[in-house]
Amino acid sequence: VKAIDPTIAALEEAFAAGDVAAIFAEPIQGEAGVVPLPEGFLVRARELATEHNALLILDEVQTGSGRTGEWFAHQHLGITPDAVTIAKSVGAGFPLGALITYGSASELFYPGTHNSTFGGNPLASAVANAVLEFIESENLLENVTARGAELREKVADLPLVASTRGAGLLIGIVLDAPVAADVAAEALTRGLVINAPAPDVIRLAPAYTIGDSEIAEFLDIFTASLDAVAAQNQENAR
Ligand SMILES: *Cc1c(COP(=O)(O)O)cnc(C)c1O
Repeated sequence: VKAIDPTIAALEEAFAAGDVAAIFAEPIQGEAGVVPLPEGFLVRARELATEHNALLILDEVQTGSGRTGEWFAHQHLGITPDAVTIAKSVGAGFPLGALITYGSASELFYPGTHNSTFGGNPLASAVANAVLEFIESENLLENVTARGAELREKVADLPLVASTRGAGLLIGIVLDAPVAADVAAEALTRGLVINAPAPDVIRLAPAYTIGDSEIAEFLDIFTASLDAVAAQNQENAR
């Protein structure tokens, strides 16, 4: 296994060696701080994987199950991977994960090749079915897209906020100083749970059902937390 820089040049160089069996990628790197892959990266990865008879496997544990406003983040790009991993949101809190395969990749993995004590668990599968059904019947993908845009717009002008990134309700708020952990701690004392995957990034991944009142409450607490940290920073600078 070899990690490469997320650039199209590094991707082409890796495939040029001629020994690539599969490429694994997250469409948006969640733990790294909600960092999207560069424009065109996955489209090129798809082309190269097909050319070299390699598999394109996407980790959509954070980006899948509707989190970005489509069922899968790769749908925004119009590509079909060979396999996708999902977990987290598909269970809406219940622990489960799944591997989805497409086309001929579906023949590579069959019962008996991957054992797991609780794999194929009927309760977990029923929960996932109920979650997916609810997302569909409540048109939550539309809410994810609309509320994601609304949140990004509403935080853009707050103190300490430099920019935002991500898609749908997977949101990275980039701060103009490495104080994300302080902001998260201030938020926690006010009853808001957010996290800091990088020193200057706050990640939001709220429930798909988020509405006006939750957004208003979030903005109140988040603004107060940013203000508190900005005030401390000024104090320290003095
Ligand atoms: C959480 C996470 C995983 C692990 O998922 P499990 O359900 O714990 O196996 C894998 N990839 C990404 C991107 C994750 O965020």
